[in-house]
Amino acid sequence: MSLSKIYLSPPHMSGNEQKYINQAFDSNWVAPLGPNVDAFEKEIASYVGASGAVAVNSGTAAIHLALSLLGVTKGDKVFCSSLTFVASANPILYLGAQPVFIDSESDTWNMSPRALEKAFQDAHLEHKLPKAVIVVNLYGQSAKMDEILALCDQFDVPIIEDAAESLGSTYRGKVSGTFGRFGIFSFNGNKIITTSGGGALISNDVEALQRARFLATQARDSTLFYQHSEMGYNYRMSNILAGIGRAQLEVLDERVEKRRLIFERYSKELSNITGLSFMPELKNTRSNRWLTVVTIDQELGISTKRLIEALAEENIEARHVWKPLHMQPLFENTPYYSHDKNEDVAQILFKTGICLPSGSNLTEEEQNRVISCLKNTIYKELFKLKEVKI
Ligand SMILES: *Cc1c(COP(=O)(O)O)cnc(C)c1O
Repeated sequence: MSLSKIYLSPPHMSGNEQKYINQAFDSNWVAPLGPNVDAFEKEIASYVGASGAVAVNSGTAAIHLALSLLGVTKGDKVFCSSLTFVASANPILYLGAQPVFIDSESDTWNMSPRALEKAFQDAHLEHKLPKAVIVVNLYGQSAKMDEILALCDQFDVPIIEDAAESLGSTYRGKVSGTFGRFGIFSFNGNKIITTSGGGALISNDVEALQRARFLATQARDSTLFYQHSEMGYNYRMSNILAGIGRAQLEVLDERVEKRRLIFERYSKELSNITGLSFMPELKNTRSNRWLTVVTIDQELGISTKRLIEALAEENIEARHVWKPLHMQPLFENTPYYSHDKNEDVAQILFKTGICLPSGSNLTEEEQNRVISCLKNTIYKELFKLKEVKI
């Protein structure tokens, strides 16, 4: 009997999505924009406590818009976390700007304030400060926003908070995504809530958001005919997908609770294995625990590759931690600031980290399968090693 597949983070519908989709069909709002989009934007903005939101067709589009709004253009520098999905940095390239990657620190796995400070000092000396800093909140954990904000304020450089993975998380009680000039969310199929594909740009700058709407709808001038004075994009969310988003947003808090429970359970069952550690949660922050991530001490003698393969043999999807952007062939020769001269934190996390199945619809039996497989593989490998030593 073959075991059913356990996915890393599959979509989890609430059952109410159909209601909003039907409303769109009944009123024939089967189009980009429409009442669901307007409502979804208001609901997201109100959830996070921002003045407004613009619903778009991907998180990547939201980052591209944010960078455009900040006037990023050819030859400009943009600082960006290195340990992240490529979508955080691709929009820098769309605009012909130059990314500069910043390492992580080990308390949050996110942007190292120390590396950021070094990057700022060098940029200051070269008289070429970045136009923006893209700060990522990895796997739901907020970066050290106090320190990062202080540095960015000191050099007067705006922050774009890439909160694609941290919707529903908090930092000192304040909602993730609301710390920078702009925040972005993703509603891709694997995220904590989904519209199948989509994203949002949030800000307290209502005028900037209005301009984002303009740019995202082909930059059409307010004339009766189609007139365009600027280059625009086709980035808005469809009214059908916004309907899915409205229903998903209603259950976001439940999804966070469930993912945190899944983390707790992994942690309870696995933390007594020496050499296996869990992604930390910084004091005064609350992670949505989008993914439960463990690191395997290299001294254990088991590679992350071996563990991922062992899980795959049992039809369980696990993944490596994001390969840092400064290690990507795409970004060869891109400037990079490591946390310490002798310590590349992002690289170590990539080598030692594994993301475990963490979907909010993961059943207890499924989680037991993951836990047993991990335990069995680790103990078997350890036993083999011991035999060799004897
Ligand atoms: C998913 C993700 C994005 C991009 O979102 P899309 O909606 O897939 O374009 C950006 N940044 C991070 C960190 C992500 O995980």
